[in-house]
Amino acid sequence: MSDDASQSNPVPADAQQGRATRAVVDLDALAGNVRALKNLLSPATDLMAVVKANGYGHGATAVARVALASGATQLAVATVGEGVELRSAGLPVPILVLSAVHESEVARAVRHRLDLTIGTDDILDAIVAVARGPGVTSPVAVHVKIDTGMRRYGAAPEHAIRLAQVVASEPTLRFAGVSTHFASADELNEAFTVEQATCFDWCLTEMSRAGIQPEKIHAANSAAMLRSRRYDYDLVRVGIALYGLRPSSEITLASSMRPIMSVESRISRILSLQPGDTVGYGRTWRAKSRERAAVIPIGYADGYARSLSNRGWMGRGGSALPIRGRVSMDQTVVALPVGCEAKVGDRVIVIADDLSNEGAPTAAALAEVLGTIPYEIVTALSARVPRFYIGGLSSPRSE
Ligand SMILES: *Cc1c(COP(=O)(O)O)cnc(C)c1O
Repeated sequence: MSDDASQSNPVPADAQQGRATRAVVDLDALAGNVRALKNLLSPATDLMAVVKANGYGHGATAVARVALASGATQLAVATVGEGVELRSAGLPVPILVLSAVHESEVARAVRHRLDLTIGTDDILDAIVAVARGPGVTSPVAVHVKIDTGMRRYGAAPEHAIRLAQVVASEPTLRFAGVSTHFASADELNEAFTVEQATCFDWCLTEMSRAGIQPEKIHAANSAAMLRSRRYDYDLVRVGIALYGLRPSSEITLASSMRPIMSVESRISRILSLQPGDTVGYGRTWRAKSRERAAVIPIGYADGYARSLSNRGWMGRGGSALPIRGRVSMDQTVVALPVGCEAKVGDRVIVIADDLSNEGAPTAAALAEVLGTIPYEIVTALSARVPRFYIGGLSSPRSE
């Protein structure tokens, strides 16, 4: 991505405008990922774009718009607030709240026509109370969630069947879906996923025997949909793969898919370290020889983990720039290897969107260093980092 692209972009209308540190999100790459995912599916299978946690850190509204324009037909979020944000942005499609909501949030969710997931009698009762109330003119769409082994949200199989019967017989509700969620679809060993799917199938058979029929049956996350067509049912709920990241090292993406976000910054100061000089809080790095270093205005308040101190690296022009000393709240110091030309204002890549990107680590590589998963790297990026969009539906724009 060239600097020219940034100059043609409208200035973001928020407090971080003009900040040297920013995330660049390639919406054309996102559209390509969504099309590649759709290509794996039968045309009858719907794609639900999971855009919880601000679109896994990429910006929920921008991601949702492009995903819908590229083949997704529904959206999913984790909280009512996230759903309201998308609805308020004018997106008219079904928006499913995946997680448990508190009873006090039901009225707000219904007002914004969010679809709700039911795992307990209490939440079903709360939804019915709102759905029967004044001002609700159309049935409230609900999905019954079955806990087949994740042990997080959802009703046990027999209980779920009873919940489904109540939903199907209640005129103020629409039986929009039945779902389950896999605990280990990203692992090499598929045995537990098959076990969960078998349990799910049993529930579906029982429901069908009882004469109740949901509109959409769904189970697969990215890992399940990437590994097999066994788990597709009517709809797949895809999150991490939209963003071009692998659910785990066991699962591969389609070959055309790639990460859609990079994080970049600009050098704010050049340092000439002498032998014995120490860098940063706690003086955890001591120069052994003369070394050039650069101060980069990104820190843990931006979501750049403090545990990368003395372990992570950034990239510039093909050189890896190792972190010296501690990552602080707003700034990080990196070494400039011999031969790496750099002056104040020059760009460095903090998180690369592909392996060839200037020597910087990908989200997957940083996750490896930190002993976590790429999900945590991208969702950690804080609101202070402006998201800058290239490509997409119309001309470049920022949000
Ligand atoms: C987050 C989530 C997904 C998406 O998972 P990915 O691994 O990102 O594809 C699907 N279903 C549920 C219930 C989730 O919470």
